[in-house]
Parts: sequence; structure tokens; C-alpha cells
Amino acid sequence: MSAADPMLEAERVLRICSACMYCDGLCPVFPAIDGKHGFSLSDVSYMSNLCHNCQGCWHDCQYAPPHPFAVNLPATFAELRQRSYADHLWPPTLGRAFRASSLAVPATVALAQLITFALVLSTGSTEMLFAADAREGAFYRMLPWPAMAGLAGGTFAWAVIAITLATLRYWRTIAPGVTISEIMRALPVALSDIITLRHLGGGGPGCHDDGAPPSHRRRILHHLTAGGFVLSGLSTMVAAAYHHLLGVAAPYPVGSLPVMLGLVGGVTMTVGAVGLLGLEARADREPSDRGETRLNVAFLILLALVGASGLAVLGFRSTPAMGLLLSTHLGLVFGLFAALPFSKALHAPFRAAALLRAAIDGNRRASTQAPEAAGDTP
Ligand code: SF4
Ligand code: SF4
Repeated sequence: MSAADPMLEAERVLRICSACMYCDGLCPVFPAIDGKHGFSLSDVSYMSNLCHNCQGCWHDCQYAPPHPFAVNLPATFAELRQRSYADHLWPPTLGRAFRASSLAVPATVALAQLITFALVLSTGSTEMLFAADAREGAFYRMLPWPAMAGLAGGTFAWAVIAITLATLRYWRTIAPGVTISEIMRALPVALSDIITLRHLGGGGPGCHDDGAPPSHRRRILHHLTAGGFVLSGLSTMVAAAYHHLLGVAAPYPVGSLPVMLGLVGGVTMTVGAVGLLGLEARADREPSDRGETRLNVAFLILLALVGASGLAVLGFRSTPAMGLLLSTHLGLVFGLFAALPFSKALHAPFRAAALLRAAIDGNRRASTQAPEAAGDTP
């Protein structure tokens, strides 16, 4: 984006779109623009997270560069999405760090990795890192259970609290005056849109990811990444139940529920994240924003490393490489949880909030049109 003030650029472009509306039907952004002539920061913050950068309106736009109007809606929204994250992070001081550096995520992961290695070495010895140990409880001889559970639980609780509060702050910005009954009525449609990733269909044909014809690759890869993340989390929860309820310590046999969930989750998350990285690498840079690309790439690399290191632990757990691989995997997992509240992970709850507001607006439009239609009936 070249404009000095992205908010002014958004207003300029959105006014053109509002008068044109050629792209109506591509995504929920256009019904949100329709009929509006002025756009507040709240409107723009909402619309920027409704846009998922499918680039459909960039390819279809008759006013895109080299036209003098130079409409570039995906890039405009990409820049404003960054601002919507920074403006609503919790605690608010995180927003300053987020604006100041794109290295916050890698730095956090590196710190978590250092702390994990320091703990492993302080509880055992350097030799332990390179000794084969496949007996029950081997993982906890590397890092005792209280330290492992404390770091995992602490960083995960931090992520849940910080992301929930940031999302509530964002919701207050984009949905002032919305009632609980409106939320409840809109919830089924919003949940269906969120779970099926319906709008990644780009109005039907899919996303223009790499200059190739539109396809559903991005939608499928998103499903794989998110599904793998959920399965990997389930694997950890089932493993905790084995430990506490059945009194059996990891590592668990191949074929056991935690291992199978971890295996399928690790493979799907890694394949999804690597596939999305491939799409990022080949993406057309003009309808995107450099800051957002950096955020995407950092998060996808982290997810791919977490998935791949988990699979490596599973594959080599009875060899001398187990200690090093387990320490690396745990450091990456703790780093992922710690960095989630200021990473691209915010995209998920912010987009979910924007889709809920879009479903509420859809219900409002339907209820105002119904009496008008009844009045038209002779
Ligand atoms: S993106 Fe271009 S073609 Fe589409 S509505 Fe806006 S101005 Fe019209
Ligand atoms: S890039 Fe796609 S999602 Fe974003 S406004 Fe354009 S059509 Fe909608």
C-alpha cells in the first residue's frame, strides 16, 4: 500500500465500490458496503476482517491500476487488518510491540526454546539429551511432569485469556448496540460460515492464490491446518487423561488413541501449513500487504515446525535422537502458545466476530425488506 493514511485510502476506495457494486456477490464485504457513503474506523475494522484476501475483486475490478482510480481493495483491507489487530490486542501495551516489530513471534519462540533447553539441562544432563530411552515415563525423565504441565498450561491459559479479551475489545468496536437476541438469531448462520469456511469459495470459484485460475486449494489447506491443530490438541488432552486417570505415563504405544490423534493431527497440520506457505510464496504481491505477508509466513512456519517436530518425536522416540527432538518440540509448542495472542492466530477469532456481525446485518436487512415487500403486495 502506498497511501500515507490507510484510513483515508480505505474511505476513498470504499466510496468508489459503494457507487459501483460490480463485485456484489463475491463476498460479504459488498453487502456491508452497499448503500453506505461514509465509513467510520469501526466500519473499516469490521470489513477488513470480513475480507479474506481471495483477490476476486482485484481480478474483476475495472478501476484497478493502471486505471487512475487505482482501486486495490484487497491490499487496502490487508493493511487495515494489521491495524485492527494492533488496536485491540490485550494487554494494550502488546499493540505497541506488534506495531514496532514483526519479529515478536520468532523472538518469543526462540526464548521459549531457550527456556525449555535450560530446564531440560538443569533437571538432567547433556548426555541424557542424546541417550536412547523408550521406557514408560521417558518423556518425564527429560522434563519432569510439573515443569512440562506448568509451561504448557501457563502459556495456553495466557493465550486463551489474551485472545478472548482482544476479541471482546474488537467486538465492542465493530458491533455497538447489538443485542443478545440478535446474536442468538444470527449464530447458526455465522457458525456454519465459520466452520465450513464458506466465503473462501470467493463467491463460488475459489481464491486467486497465485495468478492461476481460482481454485479451492486455500480453503482445503485451511481446513487441513485448523483440523490438524484441533486433533493435535485433542491428542494432548487424551494423553493427559491417560496419565491422570489411567496412571499410564508417555510414551504410549503406536495404535493408542493419543498417538493416533497426534499422528493424524500432525500430518494434516504440517501438510496444510506447508501448502499455505507454498501459496504465499507464489502469491501476487500487488493485492497484498508486506506486513500481513510477514505475519502469515511467521505463523505458518511455526505451525509447520510444531507439526513436523511432533511427528519426528513419534518416529524417532526409541532412538538417541529422542531427547533433542522432544526438547525442540516442547520449546516450539510453548513458544506457539506464548505467541498466539500477537500472531496471525488472531485472524480466526476476529474473522469469526466479523462473520457474526455480517449474519446479524443480514437478519436486519431481511427484517426491513420483509415489511416493504408486504407493502408492495397488491
Ligand atoms: S472492486 Fe472495483 S469493480 Fe469491484 S465493486 Fe469495487 S470498484 Fe467496483
Ligand atoms: S479480496 Fe475477496 S474477500 Fe476481500 S473484498 Fe475482495 S472479493 Fe471480498
